[in-house]
Amino acid sequence: MIIAVDGPAAAGKGTLARRLAQHFGLPYLDTGLLYRAVGRRVLDAGADPADPVAAEAAARALTPADLDRPDLRDEAAAQAASAVAAIPAVRAALLEFQRRFGRERGAVLDGRDIGTVVFPDADAKLFVTARPEVRAARRQRELAGRGIAADPAAVLADLLRRDAQDAGRSVAPLRQAEDALLLDTSDLDPDAAFAAALALLRARLPGLSDSA
Ligand code: C5P
Repeated sequence: MIIAVDGPAAAGKGTLARRLAQHFGLPYLDTGLLYRAVGRRVLDAGADPADPVAAEAAARALTPADLDRPDLRDEAAAQAASAVAAIPAVRAALLEFQRRFGRERGAVLDGRDIGTVVFPDADAKLFVTARPEVRAARRQRELAGRGIAADPAAVLADLLRRDAQDAGRSVAPLRQAEDALLLDTSDLDPDAAFAAALALLRARLPGLSDSA
């Protein structure tokens, strides 16, 4: 059982995907972390995340310990992730890991291209989105929770820049798969978003039980 959860930044994908995984007893993979870890490695090496040679080398050298780094959630890692994510060789290097993860025991994976590229035959695909201002407000609250004060206009601008870069790249761009179910979480809290996602999945997969 593979459930793909894609969508733009700060739409609530991670929270939702984690809950779905727990509900169905499936492993969960936050694929954004892979790109963030690659971006971080490139920054550590003092290189430019948009440099294909440096970025591919970082992707090939990635270890599980890289995913436990405490500095993957900040804005520098996000922007570096988006830059390395536009490089085909980086995506190719990370593709097999994601597929292997999913094939082992099934999984819920969240990202940008899970339903379009990584698992085009996923059992169910959700495309999770929300209005930009709502996503920026969520990101700002998340930053505030970590003690980081951020200017709302700057947070919104960062999100929009990253979305534009992710949607505009030529390889595996951010887009809704044709058979993905659209979930707009703008006016939903996490509980309501989870309930709405379950309802969509049950309608798509009538035989769905609570453990996969
Ligand atoms: O989801 P998150 O915000 O952590 O992702 C960071 C960046 O990684 C995204 O902006 C995107 O450029 C890239 N990404 C991707 N494909 C995925 C997951 C993330 O290109 N499946």
